[in-house]
Amino acid sequence: MALIVMKFGGTSMAGTERIRAVAARVKRAVDAGDRVAVVVSAMAGETDRLVNFCREASPLADPREYDVVVAAGEQITAGLLAIALQAAGVPARSWLGWQLPVRTSDAHSVARIEAIDTAGILAAMDRGEVAVVPGFQGLADSGRVTTLGRGGSDTSAVALAAALKADRCDIYTDVDGVYTTDPRIVPRARKLARITYEEMLELASVGAKVLQTRSVELAMKEAVRLQVLSSFSDAPGTLVVGEDEEMERELIAGVAYDKNEAKVTLVGVPDKPGVVAMIFGPLADANINVDMIVQNIDKGEGTTDVTFTVPRAQLPLSLDVLDKARAGIGYARIIPDANVAKVSVVGVGMKSHAGVAATMFRALADRGINIQAITTSEIKVSVLIAQEYVELAVRVLHTAYGLDGEAPAEAEDVL
Ligand code: ADP
Ligand code: ASP
Ligand code: MG
Repeated sequence: MALIVMKFGGTSMAGTERIRAVAARVKRAVDAGDRVAVVVSAMAGETDRLVNFCREASPLADPREYDVVVAAGEQITAGLLAIALQAAGVPARSWLGWQLPVRTSDAHSVARIEAIDTAGILAAMDRGEVAVVPGFQGLADSGRVTTLGRGGSDTSAVALAAALKADRCDIYTDVDGVYTTDPRIVPRARKLARITYEEMLELASVGAKVLQTRSVELAMKEAVRLQVLSSFSDAPGTLVVGEDEEMERELIAGVAYDKNEAKVTLVGVPDKPGVVAMIFGPLADANINVDMIVQNIDKGEGTTDVTFTVPRAQLPLSLDVLDKARAGIGYARIIPDANVAKVSVVGVGMKSHAGVAATMFRALADRGINIQAITTSEIKVSVLIAQEYVELAVRVLHTAYGLDGEAPAEAEDVL
């Protein structure tokens, strides 16, 4: 008898029929003798809808009230799943974030889980009840509702699995595992039977939204056995494993893209010590996460250009911060560009192989795709390109690293 946390994403919870199908899947696990806690997302599209209501009400909505609004999506699906389970003959009840409670920091809209009190649900599970927990939501010490950032239900599930010392955390979504790249962009993407925590963490952080980055970070730290599966089929999924468990190591695990960054170029920055700190200090003070950075060499005029990327949603704030810091930095011009995308290749094999970046640059050059910025880590190379080339770049790189599998028959027409 295992203790499992099963997490169902937005597409899996979108409507009564699908919720009934989820209940049937949970019932199967219960009938097999497992003890089950379920974590649910809001119905697909619902969180976007709630976020929009907040924006309409005020562009500068109070984050504490924003959290009250956006946490509501998961409250509804948790209740509905408990009802559907009861209707299927499975004793079940919902446990809202504040009821467990799921204790978080007070960073509203981007809160971090600090602790989960599991006493209540463990007792309920001992009585044979399935616990249904809404993902994405928690409770700050101030007594107010918090949310964990978009895609945060994955992190709720992993945190609950860690707190319950569960045997497994199964993430059910609308694809049947982690692929070599987003299968919606490259139908020839291959499903990976296994992926290391390290690779999954890097892939998630550069845009593969199949798992939220923090969920992987937490699973790695707490050694949670994590699996990605489809809620629409019984196909075997992808197991996230430690590096020592991964036998067949490929050079590249996958390719990811991210359209959520924007580029800023400061032209005519005085080339002297301390100037870079004057640019990035105020950005950091404003909690703006700078990602890629390129500084050009002095062309002999005592000035240089500095290019970097920021989250797209923070572009207006970044421009405002830099405008205020203009006198101190002393740049001549600022050029914002939101028409960019980041494409990354990730693989632990890079640690021991030269030439991975060269292959990337050559493949993109052959298609006439210009590289605007580059960053690397031990197991990743990322490039910034014009947004219109992102899908082409992902396909080209997928082929260049030999990742293409068979295209599904129905997908041939699309390509
Ligand atoms: P959920 O609502 O279940 O949390 P998400 O939409 O957050 O689902 O994540 C699943 C989606 O992630 C898939 O539909 C797919 O388009 C996307 N995705 C991006 N990269 C990958 C990848 N490498 N493997 C699988 N899916 C990916
Ligand atoms: N419903 C939230 C979102 O859409 C959390 C999640 O689904 O993981 O971001
Ligand atoms: Mg998700």
